[in-house]
Amino acid sequence: MKSMLFGLVLSFLSAVCLEAVEPLKVSVFSTILNEIAQKVGGDAVKSIGHVPVGADPHEFEPRPSDLKVVSSADVILLSAKHMEGYVGKLREVSGKGRVIEVGAQISSVWVEREAHSHGEGAKAEPHKHEKIEDPHWWHSVENMRKAVGVIRDEFSKLRPEHKALFGSNAAVYDKELVDLQQWAKRRIAELPRDRRKLVTSHEAFEYFAKDFGFKVFYVEGLTASDQPASKKVADLLETVQAQKVKAVFAQDSVNPKVLKEITSSTGAKLGGQLWADGLGTGDAATYDGMFRHNVNTLVEALK
Ligand SMILES: [Zn+2]
Repeated sequence: MKSMLFGLVLSFLSAVCLEAVEPLKVSVFSTILNEIAQKVGGDAVKSIGHVPVGADPHEFEPRPSDLKVVSSADVILLSAKHMEGYVGKLREVSGKGRVIEVGAQISSVWVEREAHSHGEGAKAEPHKHEKIEDPHWWHSVENMRKAVGVIRDEFSKLRPEHKALFGSNAAVYDKELVDLQQWAKRRIAELPRDRRKLVTSHEAFEYFAKDFGFKVFYVEGLTASDQPASKKVADLLETVQAQKVKAVFAQDSVNPKVLKEITSSTGAKLGGQLWADGLGTGDAATYDGMFRHNVNTLVEALK
């Protein structure tokens, strides 16, 4: 009885303590980082995601209502690596809030691609190489683990009274990530090395490819307006045939006539949807689910 009373007093006291400290207000410009903020912060954090699930983060621009939330936030979390072209605007309105460019603390991987000369019939220039920094660092689980550490440390600095809570939440999440990476390694081991070829239209998978030994072939900017007879499509067909690729992963927005041309003239199939730009819907609504969806989709289509 005595110990029960003591327990009651303790939980009352801790409730009072928690109430005394306002939850940390966090403004997040990435669906991935929003999950980390919520998992690490728990009840001690109020995390607001500004980029809706399914929205294109490359095209996203904060609305006045977003800027208003940012102006009273304690922390603003960004993917960085040039994903948020509007970072200057956020810094301007952020007031006392700390702008944390999480991706800036993660090593970059660069997309190396051939820069084709454009214009049909023009004298073909020799192929040049260009390098583009891939901003989609979360497609490496190891990078996610680093991001969890960065966010745990930032939250702990601002709310030292919750340091232990943030530490144990981060440890639980980190364990899930380690399990996910082990699962992904086993699953991808089902694919022989020479089958690890990813043909896709969005330059988003360099980190993933580096971790799992994939070679990526990007179809430069294939869009809804491309016609089956275009040079771009001809290049793609050539790549698919030369590399003996079994499946192509195209964006939903690509012209259906082009997709049909790919499948009928190369024998490759359409591999299904990969989530490139953040969390998705259905089974991809969590990081774990999104990552497993991508791995399963690749393995099923290419094996
Ligand atoms: Zn992207």
